Amino acid sequence: MTAISFFPEAGAEASPLGPAARGRPERETLKLEKRLCRQVGQAIADFNMIEEGDRVMVCLSGGKDSYGLLDVLMKLQARAPVRFELVAVNLDQKQPGFPAEVLPNYLANLGIEHHIETQDTYSIVKAKIPEGKTTCSLCSRLRRGILYSVARRLKCNKIALGHHRDDMLQTFFLNMFFGGKLKGMPPKLTSDNGEFIVIRPLAYVDERDLVAWADHRQFPIIPCNLCGSQENLQRQVVGDMLRDWQKKHPGRIENMFAALQNVVPSHLMDASLHDFKHLKATGVPDEDGDKAFDEESFAAPVGQPFAGVSLVGA
Ligand code: SF4
Repeated sequence: MTAISFFPEAGAEASPLGPAARGRPERETLKLEKRLCRQVGQAIADFNMIEEGDRVMVCLSGGKDSYGLLDVLMKLQARAPVRFELVAVNLDQKQPGFPAEVLPNYLANLGIEHHIETQDTYSIVKAKIPEGKTTCSLCSRLRRGILYSVARRLKCNKIALGHHRDDMLQTFFLNMFFGGKLKGMPPKLTSDNGEFIVIRPLAYVDERDLVAWADHRQFPIIPCNLCGSQENLQRQVVGDMLRDWQKKHPGRIENMFAALQNVVPSHLMDASLHDFKHLKATGVPDEDGDKAFDEESFAAPVGQPFAGVSLVGA
């Protein structure tokens, strides 16, 4: 299979846009479109997410992220040098108030192959989980199983999800704070049943760009709180924490995200990743070796808190 080269061509020729929505200057909107296409193309290329002949099931919830994902993938598909198929899929879980006609109408207008799977997981969850208890783990387990069976039926080999850069960082901190693990959200993985490759093409995308894009495109957003669950509260708290950091120290999110791609196992403490026990002096100077007794300085933009700070042995 040939990997798609989406970058740097992706987004080089942004499509002409009409007047920008809600006062956003057209130039800004074109830049936003180019950035979205470039970042999605880059992630696809970096992790070899889409290859010649793939049939990709794009999961649509009705939220801004999945609308944005489908939108950008369709743009890239039109320009990509290799052939792949997209199938948009929504699972209608029969949550109270779910506007069942919104997504079929939207997808029919787009003219893209799509499928709406209707399964009343809401009633199952309500019947099985006592009032006041968290419903998300059963709900997402049921949803996962259904989506796998839909992907199988539709003969898709890949499943695309709309998680973005900020979801990935939040997951990293949630795992650290509550799970005692350095573990994020991978851009590409094998599904737990071993049958599909799951991809997250928005891995490099800033959530604020998805908000702006949804606003520009006027996606018919479906509210995400129809089930009434509160389980995502901790995620919201961590999201607020990250946004607050970014406001006080611009660039911090970018640095933390870069760190996820720049891991140094010899400077962590997981003995399964680095053989500390059998470490021996080599007698050979190593330019990249640890300068254990030197101060390591961390440059921060002038005028920012911590500018010029250096930490000993950090
Ligand atoms: S928030 Fe609601 S729909 Fe989402 S996983 Fe939890 S119970 Fe299911």
